[in-house]
Amino acid sequence: MKLATFKRDGSSAEEVGIFLEGKIFALPEFKDMLSLIEASTPETLRGLERRAKSAKPSDLLENFTLLAPIPRPRADIICLGLNYRDHIEEAARFNSKKFGIDMPKTVYFSKRAGEALPPFGKIPPHEDMCDSLDYEAELAVIISKNCRGVKAENAAECVFGYTIINDVSARNVQTSRKQWFFGKSLDGFCPMGPVIAAAGDFPFPPSLSVRSSVNKEPRQNSNTKFMIRQIGEIIEELSSGFELRAGDIIATGTPSGVGLGFSPPKFLRRGDEIACEIEGIGSLVNFVG
Ligand code: MG
Repeated sequence: MKLATFKRDGSSAEEVGIFLEGKIFALPEFKDMLSLIEASTPETLRGLERRAKSAKPSDLLENFTLLAPIPRPRADIICLGLNYRDHIEEAARFNSKKFGIDMPKTVYFSKRAGEALPPFGKIPPHEDMCDSLDYEAELAVIISKNCRGVKAENAAECVFGYTIINDVSARNVQTSRKQWFFGKSLDGFCPMGPVIAAAGDFPFPPSLSVRSSVNKEPRQNSNTKFMIRQIGEIIEELSSGFELRAGDIIATGTPSGVGLGFSPPKFLRRGDEIACEIEGIGSLVNFVG
């Protein structure tokens, strides 16, 4: 089941619903996606899905615009850095001082996303401070409930679903500081969507192809099964130290093929179209502009 935040044509109101074969079954009982996540259990979600699937064609909306599924995350996105071996290698080739270190521990950083960018939204190039705008297609895990001390083998029950985040990065800002936070957090640097795919649709952990392209030219092509730190381990480690909350978002890192990995680097330019695609979720398309 795919869940979406959307606006009906001609309306500015944000609503949530079930995305079904290109149409939307609205769920007016939830004021936003975070309320839906907080109120839901796997059983109630299955009930919503049954309702949508048995809806009359006239109950399905055809004219709407998708927004980021969680348009205003309650907290900064929790991100993993360097979680695919091939990306560590390309990052080290780009800047061995900043990335070429042996990291026995998972790299965590946060990404500010007061306002997540919707599908087809424009990524601001921030040309006044950024000379090396880059993309990173990532599987993002949405936490289902407040949890602490979760063991990896039980982590599936803390996962509500999955979406796609493009972890847009200003490489010069990122690498000129000891901390990545600022270079990952400029306004418009968190495209998200197009929908949340419910965790129950996949085995755990899911093995999903991750791809990206720029102006239709293929760039990244990997699979979440190649993540060094898998979702269960990530949830176990984080929840051993702090409470994960319903609606928290964990971006699990990106595989190789980002702009900095090419020689010379292929950074983004104004007008570029970036598509990040994950099997079972969809394609998140944005433009630089
Ligand atoms: Mg990243």
